Amino acid sequence: MTGTRPAHIAVVNLPMHGHVNPTLGVVEELVRRGHRVTYAITEDFVHQVKAAGAEPVLYPVEAGDGSEPPERLSEGFALAVHASLGSLPALTRAYAGDRPDLILYDVYGFAGPLLGTQWRIPTVLFSPTHLRYDGMIPEFFDGAPRLDALPGHADLVAALTDRGADAARIHEIEHPEYAVAAFPRAFQRRPETVATRRAAYVGPTLHDRSYQGTWRPPHPDTPVLLISLGSQFTCRPDFYRACAEAFTGLDHHVVMSVGPNLPPDRLGPLPASFEVHAHVPQLSVLAHANAFVTHAGMGSTMEAVHHGVPMVAVPQMAEQRVNAARIEALRLGVHVPRDTATPETLREAVLRVSSSPDIRAGLAALRAELDRAGGARAAADLIEEALGSAPH
Ligand code: UDP
Repeated sequence: MTGTRPAHIAVVNLPMHGHVNPTLGVVEELVRRGHRVTYAITEDFVHQVKAAGAEPVLYPVEAGDGSEPPERLSEGFALAVHASLGSLPALTRAYAGDRPDLILYDVYGFAGPLLGTQWRIPTVLFSPTHLRYDGMIPEFFDGAPRLDALPGHADLVAALTDRGADAARIHEIEHPEYAVAAFPRAFQRRPETVATRRAAYVGPTLHDRSYQGTWRPPHPDTPVLLISLGSQFTCRPDFYRACAEAFTGLDHHVVMSVGPNLPPDRLGPLPASFEVHAHVPQLSVLAHANAFVTHAGMGSTMEAVHHGVPMVAVPQMAEQRVNAARIEALRLGVHVPRDTATPETLREAVLRVSSSPDIRAGLAALRAELDRAGGARAAADLIEEALGSAPH
């Protein structure tokens, strides 16, 4: 404990690896400090949430049609609002008589600030992506001028007024007072324009993921190349075929994570130097990797920096394009726009990033920032500060 009395902290999230993984190190630290952590999530994530020391509080998820989420975040926003509002009855029931003292909520976990407003308890945003900067809304949300222009926003305001709050309090949801950012300030786009009063850029808070299994290189002296488009936009057979062509004959062992929706035989025969999986223990592979062809999701990007692995960023949507630009600006790798990702450009990019002293220096510089950022401890400090703040 750090002097703060033990509290009940509820984490409210949506079922996405890129949103759940970054919170788990913080959960571990809060539990280590003596707090009780409950975690609102769906059945699919029970295992990792429990492994971090939290008690899962389950809400149902609507059965999807198996298709991938929309690449356009304006459509993704409406889906996140829908899923969040859908979780409210189960969460209201589960927390009746077991009110948390504080809610830590994901940037798309809108049930968090809604319940926090209703229950008049402090809330802290947990942001696995850039904090709100000037120009973010059009850049992320397909040119929308403001959040209130997005489909789903009116439903969010209605849910607020249904809970007895003034519609104007949507401003507090859109501009939270406390925020934990799961990356260092140096990676934030336009940090000088972020208005959050108490923003803690704590860096990634990597946690024990041994439940994913471990990975060892089959040949200790062969360089390892990891290829992954993350967990959302993975059904891209043409891209993986381009990778197969690009890296056949290269002196690398290639680990390719292709997601759950792509039968490996759809990629045709691959050389013995390739292994293809639906999902890999990414931290374990990165610990041995010499280069990473990535979609530049924030989680994957930070995990690569932690392990000092140079990146070839092939973003699939707007937010990842912002990250790819930061990767280039901070000399962590190169950006290959996906419509230019041919076998030739991919191969050339991997060879370039894995031999560039400039990129090695850029990675070392940001890695030093991660070490200074404070990680899970700094996140827990901010959460404890918010716990002591006056209720709404
Ligand atoms: N991940 C993993 N194995 C895989 C693919 C992804 O463990 O085969 C993890 C990865 O380590 C990261 C998360 O899933 O923690 C993906 O988050 P990210 O922010 O990179 O991208 P998103 O999936 O949200 O687009």
